[in-house]
Amino acid sequence: MMERPVIHGRCVQGADRPSMSQTMQSVLVAFARVSPEADCCLASCPVCRQGELSVWEDPSQGMVLYDCPTGCEHQDILAAAGLTVADLKLRGPVV
Ligand SMILES: [Zn+2]
Repeated sequence: MMERPVIHGRCVQGADRPSMSQTMQSVLVAFARVSPEADCCLASCPVCRQGELSVWEDPSQGMVLYDCPTGCEHQDILAAAGLTVADLKLRGPVV
């Protein structure tokens, strides 16, 4: 299993953390049962509905990335969530 990158403060909005980007917010709206963790958000996978999907921002790629631990195809997850690749592109404010 791929280790997910640690990007602190990129998920939860709060006084001690930078705000999450509009992209991250709009992506998270598309998923169910989102719960913020220290280094990413967990959400219900829209494909298998079992996996805890990890969702995080990767500023180096300029994208919101996600991964299902049960191995669902990224394209399937995107389609099931009603998103397109364009929806994953980071746009401000990026801290
Ligand atoms: Zn899944």
